[in-house]
Amino acid sequence: MRAIHTLTLFGILGSIPFLAASCGGDSKDSGNEDGGQVEAAFEGVPDFGEDRAFEILRLQESYGPRNPGSEGHRLLEEFIAERTRASGAELVEQKFDYILHGARRPTSMRNLIARFVAPENKPRIVLGTHYDTRCWAENDSNPSRRDEPIIGADDGGSGTAVLLALMETLAKTKPDAAVDVIFFDGEDFGRFDARDESGGLIDFFAGSRYFAENVPPAMRRPAPAAAIVLDLVGSKDVRILREPVSDEIAGDVYDALYLRARTRGFENLVDSEMRYSVTDDHTALQTTLGWRAILLIKNNFSDFPYHTHSDTSELCSKDSLNAVGQTLVDYVYGFSPNPVRD
Ligand SMILES: [Zn+2]
Repeated sequence: MRAIHTLTLFGILGSIPFLAASCGGDSKDSGNEDGGQVEAAFEGVPDFGEDRAFEILRLQESYGPRNPGSEGHRLLEEFIAERTRASGAELVEQKFDYILHGARRPTSMRNLIARFVAPENKPRIVLGTHYDTRCWAENDSNPSRRDEPIIGADDGGSGTAVLLALMETLAKTKPDAAVDVIFFDGEDFGRFDARDESGGLIDFFAGSRYFAENVPPAMRRPAPAAAIVLDLVGSKDVRILREPVSDEIAGDVYDALYLRARTRGFENLVDSEMRYSVTDDHTALQTTLGWRAILLIKNNFSDFPYHTHSDTSELCSKDSLNAVGQTLVDYVYGFSPNPVRD
């Protein structure tokens, strides 16, 4: 899950001045359009498979917990690899060992990357999510079960479901851009009581940090036009706002996504600023690689039983997966030319 969320200067000062600055521009002036206009705006853009996405979320649940080293993790790795090959994408695997703070033995981890290639002059878009689930349930109401791994239907399962379903769309209809889909391992591997000398969390985001320090040569240059990371996008009535650090770095990517979401009438994607910044798998892409990376994550972490055994598909919804999935499809297929603005 998201690990840290600290109040930033924006939160302290209030978000209105920043919003005023970041919400200017032509792209924000149009309101929802009627059905006919929406159809015209998205002509030729394929549908996101919302039923398939929810099915994949449930399938992951059936594997059980998918924490590194577990049988569920192994099954999901196999499923992602098989779906990548079936999509006609190139599979890139990054295996690495990670030693958890205080642990004696390393844990074997693996990032999986599905590369949908395009001619060299086409833009490249990176989509990412973590597929591992948490080894512990420190927030569970039952103290005797807090050391057990969780199912993580939303935390791990939702982003993975959206991107695997989107890969099936990419396989059927080729977009006018290259797309790299990255499934990060070890995002939720840390403990909140393990800190570095300056009090920062350690051990979280193991996969994205490894990826950023060991980018496969073919993915180094040119840098992607945008990198969009998903986490916690599947809960019922989820609200996804702009993450402030991402908005500073690549606000135009949010502009493009929210314009599309508004045109479709998706109410889950709310075009305003979160009160706090969030550290997640997008962070290493921003800080280590300098990529134009943004995070799509829910705005409120207190309305869902995260890091408990209640994070199950019953609390997730197809509509939430669809709002994010279809918006990403609209973005990927509209990248050039843009079906909304043209
Ligand atoms: Zn988590």
